[in-house]
Amino acid sequence: RRPALRRSKGSKHVSIDENLTDPLLRANAVKAARGLRPFDKLVRNAVVLDMVTGQERPADIGIVGALIASVHPPDSAREAKQQIDVSGAFAVPGFIDTHMHVESSMVTAAEYARAVVPRGVTTALWDPHELANVAGMKGVDYACQAAKRLPLRLLPLAPTCVPSAPGFEASGGDFGPEQIATLLARDDIHGAAELMTMQPLLNGDPRVQDIVAAGLASHKRVCGHGRGLTGGDLAAYAAAGIVSDHELTSAADLIARLEAGFTIELRGSHEHLLPEFAKLLISLGHLPQTVTLCTDDVFPDDLLTKGSLDHVIRVLIDNDMPAAWVYRAATFNAANRIGRPDLGLIAPGKRADIVLVSDLAEVSATHVFTNGRLVAQAGCLVQPAPGISTPSSITQSVRTKEFEAADFEVPARGPFARIATLSRPRFPEWGERQIPVQDGKLVLPDDMIRMAVCNRHGQGTPTRVAFMENWGTWRGAFATTVSHDSHNLTVFGRDPEDLAAAANAVRQLHGGLAVASQGKVIAQLALPLAGLISEEPLENVAREFADLRAALVPLVDWQPPYLVFKALFGASLVCNAGPRLSDVGIVDAFNNLMLESCVVADAIG
Ligand code: FE
Ligand code: FE
Ligand code: FE
Repeated sequence: RRPALRRSKGSKHVSIDENLTDPLLRANAVKAARGLRPFDKLVRNAVVLDMVTGQERPADIGIVGALIASVHPPDSAREAKQQIDVSGAFAVPGFIDTHMHVESSMVTAAEYARAVVPRGVTTALWDPHELANVAGMKGVDYACQAAKRLPLRLLPLAPTCVPSAPGFEASGGDFGPEQIATLLARDDIHGAAELMTMQPLLNGDPRVQDIVAAGLASHKRVCGHGRGLTGGDLAAYAAAGIVSDHELTSAADLIARLEAGFTIELRGSHEHLLPEFAKLLISLGHLPQTVTLCTDDVFPDDLLTKGSLDHVIRVLIDNDMPAAWVYRAATFNAANRIGRPDLGLIAPGKRADIVLVSDLAEVSATHVFTNGRLVAQAGCLVQPAPGISTPSSITQSVRTKEFEAADFEVPARGPFARIATLSRPRFPEWGERQIPVQDGKLVLPDDMIRMAVCNRHGQGTPTRVAFMENWGTWRGAFATTVSHDSHNLTVFGRDPEDLAAAANAVRQLHGGLAVASQGKVIAQLALPLAGLISEEPLENVAREFADLRAALVPLVDWQPPYLVFKALFGASLVCNAGPRLSDVGIVDAFNNLMLESCVVADAIG
């Protein structure tokens, strides 16, 4: 049965958005536009980069309340209660990040806002699916609370894939169609987030179909994650009602998705692909209206040093995309695609989200206004972003027993065993090996590493171990409770003593990351909120994260672009194609396969 949509009763939603339907506000704006009353604020001597014409023109911007009342040629005769002379800076609309997860930056929403608003981001669509996969509905409630009263318009969506591959993994939440419908009925939930359960949807799985049906019935957007889909499968994904995608891995993916009518979320988290995307878009001769920009997952050190959507804008301009196109993708196109005609333009009647940048290519924001209020200046918030106290429902989230080296061994009968292996980071493939068995345990070949996943959400299942090929040479171990998307405790390395040391370290931290070498922990980062987030300032989190990243450099031979640090956090993303290790075993959701142990046959020879 399909769930009925419920109206939310007495929503306590506190939006940063003032109501633009207030007749008095409009009447005042009308008078101010005609010179019959002063503006509340007048941004003087700007150069507007017009998102409609693509042209630059000198202008003053008159603001009344949260509204832009007038954009007119510079005129010193116009009156205002407050004048801000920006002496030739470019005025562009506030940037809109169309797909992101605050959790990936490992800081609270308030810290996140402090980092991105001064860089010009005024709106972000937040899929809190990491919190949901750890803490279920309480995780989403926390996200919605944390998103309120910020200088950033942070718009939470309903996470549609909790867990990402039902039946192939267990997370800390389980959202069926009813939960999704309940979430979508809320005023503070702005759509259905990336539908990652592609294969079940295409196969007609009733749970996933009903989740999409709940999204469509809510008349809110149903966002996508169409990793690897081509041809008929890509068409089917669109036909099912999915409207957007950011999982592009080539220019061919981009053109196929443009042709299929998807809203494109060009993402910064896969920066190495942006040059070929820029090239393709330039070759079209115009910017399609469906192209928007997003960050998706940004590590804390990258957020601090490189930035957020401003960095994506910079990279695209660096790759010869006309600045007017790039800003249009980040503002006007995004506003239209997310259904917010009040945003994305510097024009009378629109919401006054305005960024002043001294240099378009450098994206150097000097002033940021949201709703007509100056919220950031010279790289800092004008007023601190209010944080919220942490509910106990999202702490103490690592529920495992203490680990010992034996947990990372695989029992088998000798003298030889045949095992299923996982080959290649990022695009995993099945492999097979015959390997020796000693003392009732598999002997790890020199060219392979161990990966282990242990359910941390109280299921109490045993630790699963896989042997992986083409994952480089390792001389230590790395443990993490950030492991997309079920965020089970995941460990990589060779020596079981190292794996146990790293795993126990993150267990003691109640979540986080740790690096161990020769049986000792040499770097760690505590993430006590859901095992995903720190309550520390971004600067501290970024420093510890960078130190931890650096600690792994001498221990692992990375091979970019695929065998990189980041690949460790997505190795257990079961909803994508290929075999993956989850807390239930080696699984392949696309081919409906599951192995509890990697041992296919033993007592050979
Ligand atoms: Fe995705
Ligand atoms: Fe995502
Ligand atoms: Fe994720």
